[in-house]
Amino acid sequence: MSVQAKEIIQTEENHPLKEFQLHLREACELLHYSESVYELLAEPLRFFTVRIPVRMDNGKTEVFTGFRAQHNDAVGPTKGGIRFHPEVTADEVKALAGWMSLKCGIAELPYGGGKGGVICDPRQMSMNELERLSRGYVRAVSQIVGPTKDIPAPDVFTNPQIMAWMMDEYSEIREFESPGFITGKPLALGGSVGRETATSKGLYHIFNLISRMKGIEVGQARVIIQGFGNVGSYLAHFLHAQGAKIVGIGDANGAIFDENGLDIPHMMERRDSFGTVSHLFEKTITNRELLEQPCDILIPAALGGVITAENAERLQCKIVIEAANGPTTAEAEAILQKRDITVVPDILANSGGVIVSYFEWVQNNQGFYWDEETVDKLLREKMEASFRKAYDTMVHYQVDMRKAVYLVAVKRLAEASRVRGWVN
Ligand code: GLU
Repeated sequence: MSVQAKEIIQTEENHPLKEFQLHLREACELLHYSESVYELLAEPLRFFTVRIPVRMDNGKTEVFTGFRAQHNDAVGPTKGGIRFHPEVTADEVKALAGWMSLKCGIAELPYGGGKGGVICDPRQMSMNELERLSRGYVRAVSQIVGPTKDIPAPDVFTNPQIMAWMMDEYSEIREFESPGFITGKPLALGGSVGRETATSKGLYHIFNLISRMKGIEVGQARVIIQGFGNVGSYLAHFLHAQGAKIVGIGDANGAIFDENGLDIPHMMERRDSFGTVSHLFEKTITNRELLEQPCDILIPAALGGVITAENAERLQCKIVIEAANGPTTAEAEAILQKRDITVVPDILANSGGVIVSYFEWVQNNQGFYWDEETVDKLLREKMEASFRKAYDTMVHYQVDMRKAVYLVAVKRLAEASRVRGWVN
């Protein structure tokens, strides 16, 4: 892994679980909840560590470590992606599961949050090794996941092919076809139309809503997107198509900035499956530099912890839209707030993915499939409703948008937990 990619994700203040707990504490205080609510939600209800032996192509066995966190299932089964990444940690997976609970809360999906991770670098693995690892992960967690228990999906460096292997393995173990066990599948296996672009479509709707609210002409906005994987690339494509000028793009190896705007269709064509594009350009900058270039809207769409107390003073944007999970630390957010830079939080902005995952699961359960127009319309309605709810709560409690989303989502989790008799 390049030094620079490490630079993106590791900073002193980046402790995702602590960040989650900090915001949760604030929400519980504002809502005057008993300590038991905070205690229940501060950590996942269940957390598993698994060891996965995989026969590598060279004949040797490597043992990988994987995780699955189930944050809270008071509202319904837990739901959330699996990331394959060399730097993924238990702490991060726990926080990500908590954030998934909140995402499902603001979007009013009948789920709690879950998350999985495997410490590995898929960029260094062959397809055969990846298939064996994916199947091994499912064998290791097969007793604790399932269509009515905990439903995985893609996340960083996992994709529909990996979902297909996982579903096939699960169906083998359970001895029946279980398309609803996992979402983000290829269409041929019961995937939903619109799932691949769902996260970016959702972000696109949020982009338009917040731009209008802040008086930025959407067709002329200057945008920087850090990350050109599944989320960043499609988002760049949608924004470029509506006339926005994409002035900066970053990948795991470097970044490009051009104030005249980048040729997004060309970059879409030439990107690899990990969203690598910077090698196509002669003159590159670092990802750190990219975040500090002038633009109207900055969209971190890679990994967490990239906007920190160290660089928040130097950002030159009006709005940050969080496409990645956890890109802004709490300290950084306080600085941005003072500088009057609006942050649209991940748990609202990137919830399009899990929303269409929910649609996929509903279609799998009913065995009747919708067309793209229906999926698009329902996604748009959900994103708009979430934005409205967040906005009304902001006004009512006089808080920023992240706090507002925490308030709405924590309320829902606490209410379900309370009527079940888990908390008082
Ligand atoms: N991994 C995505 C997220 O962080 C999608 C989860 C899902 O579809 O369940 O929201």
